[in-house]
Amino acid sequence: MPRIRPIRTEAIVLRQRPLGDADRICVLFSPTRGRVEAVAKGVRRPLSKLAGHVEPLSRGQFGLAQGRSLHVITDAQTLDAWPSLHDDVDRMTEALSMAELVDRSTDLDVASGPLYMLLKGSLDELARTSSPSVVRRWFTLRFLDQQGYQPELDECVRCRAALGPEGNGYAAADGGAVCPNCHQAGVGQRLSSPVFRLLRYMRRSSCEATTQVRVAADEAAELERHLRLSLEQALDGRLRSSSFTEALERAESYGHSAASVAADREREEQERAAV
Ligand SMILES: [Zn+2]
Repeated sequence: MPRIRPIRTEAIVLRQRPLGDADRICVLFSPTRGRVEAVAKGVRRPLSKLAGHVEPLSRGQFGLAQGRSLHVITDAQTLDAWPSLHDDVDRMTEALSMAELVDRSTDLDVASGPLYMLLKGSLDELARTSSPSVVRRWFTLRFLDQQGYQPELDECVRCRAALGPEGNGYAAADGGAVCPNCHQAGVGQRLSSPVFRLLRYMRRSSCEATTQVRVAADEAAELERHLRLSLEQALDGRLRSSSFTEALERAESYGHSAASVAADREREEQERAAV
């Protein structure tokens, strides 16, 4: 067999799952290679040198060798461990949601520089914010924009009238906001003025600036609803899985549900033969 040169890449560890007695499969997200599944050999043994460098939701520099079907991690060096993210359940929950979204929306071996920078920047922000859910909402809006599902906020998605500040609706299925006339004719859900303004602000502002905005609880809930509907549209369309919204709920506890453990085990059987 011809010898293939090992790959070196920076990556964020999106998640990992056990393989056999001592190994783990790490799902890495690389700016140049997209999603990469790679085996970390021996990491569940005590004294493993790799173990500290392949933690989910850390960023590192990795050496990867091509195995029979999966890559094998030859060496790893942590660049960002984001400890303040790992020490806080709320931050961790939002980080897992973002990682899950990236995991499900990117393909193997496809360069994903802009999405990588978005995830990295959002995890940096998440590690220092006191408003984790705001960071995740900002990330979600940017993610939709990047994936080609940018919600329209300037003109009505039905009649193309310019949108004023009051009385609009939000029609995720049509791709964004609708004018008062179309909304009164039954299109979309109510889009309150504060949430409309906030969406427009989020679009043009940094994540950090967005976390400074005071938002009432009912406005946050409304914004969450609109973003979730848009995400569902995107997931039903181009994205690879429609189960992300379930995953969002599942991500509330750090770790696997019984169902996903069973599914992992089944996959593991198949993968063990492949390394
Ligand atoms: Zn209209």
